[in-house]
Amino acid sequence: MKVTSAEIVISAVRPEQYPEGDLPEFALAGRSNVGKSSFINKMLNRKSLARTSSKPGKTQTLNFFIINEMMHFVDVPGYGYAKVSKSERAAWGKMIETYLTTREQLRAALLIVDLRHPPTKDDVMMYDFFKHYEIPCIVIATKADKIPKGKWQKHLKVTKETLQLEKGDEIILFSSETGLGKEEAWKSLQARM
Ligand code: GDP
Repeated sequence: MKVTSAEIVISAVRPEQYPEGDLPEFALAGRSNVGKSSFINKMLNRKSLARTSSKPGKTQTLNFFIINEMMHFVDVPGYGYAKVSKSERAAWGKMIETYLTTREQLRAALLIVDLRHPPTKDDVMMYDFFKHYEIPCIVIATKADKIPKGKWQKHLKVTKETLQLEKGDEIILFSSETGLGKEEAWKSLQARM
């Protein structure tokens, strides 16, 4: 898809702050440092629209982007920081849960994982969280450029098995370095609009 416009709409915490209207929406989740901002920027052809903003102690917000005036991306704060306090973790969980249970226009969640390693315990929890709320998932296995092509299928298999990927959910090989998987990811989003 050709992206002609992409901008941030709002950083929201509470439902009253979510953008109005019924544009189809996609949530993006991943553990801190997995490459989620790089994924968003690659998809939108922007250098630094999405930033790594999930450092502990910083306000955790849902960042809504509007793309081509026709859909929203929602950047969910990264998880898996060891140092995050119990209360911060609880606030994060509550914010995501509220979002997932109230947002009717949510079409799918994109779960960003690192192709090089099996999904972490936190990745599995995030996937299970989406499945609990019956939200379709597109798993983006990124940083593919960091391992040899000959190993991709083996790593994809481990990723699928560790997550226990359900029927109907997709997994897409991706690299923010090379742009591998970008067209496939856009096709998958467009098919769900
Ligand atoms: P975030 O915390 O999930 O938003 O992660 P970032 O997008 O900031 O990426 C974390 C680090 O991984 C940065 O140094 C990126 O340059 C690097 N990175 C992200 N995606 C890729 C990729 O597909 N390939 C390679 N080689 N590096 C990547």
